Amino acid sequence: MTEDSIEQMAEWYRRQRVKELTTGPAAGMLLLLQGNPTLLDPAPAEFGPEDIDHRRLHEDHPCLRCGKRAQVAYVNCLELGNRWLDLCAACDLWMRRPLS
Ligand SMILES: [Zn+2]
Repeated sequence: MTEDSIEQMAEWYRRQRVKELTTGPAAGMLLLLQGNPTLLDPAPAEFGPEDIDHRRLHEDHPCLRCGKRAQVAYVNCLELGNRWLDLCAACDLWMRRPLS
């Protein structure tokens, strides 16, 4: 993975005001996923908050970490295109948890 794609992803998260996702364990998880991004469903090239809400509220996707029904959706902007990252509430908390 290149510096560019890390920067791209970090910029998207900054714009989405979820800065904590670019640091700590979340960054590690995202790097892991980027090692095998085909694990993630393709996301639309153009997307807005309504697309994210539709996916998390009206569609049924397994949490990437534990397999339970996902309640949170993120879009990762990767070199091979945008990919969904689906998490249940517990794993979302886990991902956002700062290193202790
Ligand atoms: Zn989970």
